[in-house]
Amino acid sequence: MYIVDLHSHSNVSDGILKPEELISYAKEKKVNMIALTDHDDISGLDEARNKAQALGIHFINGVEISVTWRSRTIHMLGLNFDSNNDNLIKGLKSIREGRVERAKKIAYGLAMVGIPNAYEGAKSFASHQVIGRVHFAHFLVSQGYSKNIKSVFNKFMTKGKPGYVDHDWASMEEATSWIRGAGGMPVIAHPGRYDMGSKLYPQFFEEFKNMGGAGIEVISGSQSMNQVDYFAAYSEKHELYASVGSDFHGHGVSHRDLGPLHELPKNTVPIWENF
Ligand code: AMP
Ligand code: MN
Ligand code: MN
Ligand code: MN
Repeated sequence: MYIVDLHSHSNVSDGILKPEELISYAKEKKVNMIALTDHDDISGLDEARNKAQALGIHFINGVEISVTWRSRTIHMLGLNFDSNNDNLIKGLKSIREGRVERAKKIAYGLAMVGIPNAYEGAKSFASHQVIGRVHFAHFLVSQGYSKNIKSVFNKFMTKGKPGYVDHDWASMEEATSWIRGAGGMPVIAHPGRYDMGSKLYPQFFEEFKNMGGAGIEVISGSQSMNQVDYFAAYSEKHELYASVGSDFHGHGVSHRDLGPLHELPKNTVPIWENF
């Protein structure tokens, strides 16, 4: 029996653990199929895969791509792709470059409220190329502007606050085609976070399916049991495979631990039947 977690982060993006440390922790938690899904970067996959092989864990290549759909930011996982695919590598690089431009704007917004040098500060908390809001949050906590990551987000890093700027990520079409082009499966991450309502969710999933979408993260660290049933119904209706992921970022950053929370509802088909 597989104990599956197909959504997790390392310090290649905004997680705490190094890729191989994440895999060691997966072993400790008895997870025996894992995908590392860093934001917009796949440079941790080799290290994680090697460690997983050594520990007898089934490793799935993963990534979490930042996407703009109808002016909303949504996250799309790519699973089980060829990590040497040039088009995917190029696409992700362009998103990371956009992150740098966004980070400079975020720093400007923070400077306007009297917080200097936030770009350099955030950068010092980023271990690799990805710079994001979590790195700003770490910097702000380190400077005493807030006591923890959660409160820093509420105070500075969410829509309408000084450390938030709107940003154009990849389109849904680009992200699905990069993943499919590399032989992988596009999956909508944590759908419950988008708060689209009963009118927009059907359009969202239908468009995604038509563009080559393969799955929905029915079980997520950030979804209640009610939401699980709600998204299982879309999974069934649109014949999108069901995925399971904790969205673990490391202790102290995410409140969710690594590993599956629940079992998938009976009306869904697990995405790992394809792996
Ligand atoms: P970014 O892609 O740079 O905009 O950052 C998004 C990341 O910030 C998410 O993947 C989470 O890791 C983190 N995040 C978003 N909202 C919150 C929040 N309210 N509290 C803590 N972390 C958050
Ligand atoms: Mn994150
Ligand atoms: Mn996400
Ligand atoms: Mn994530």
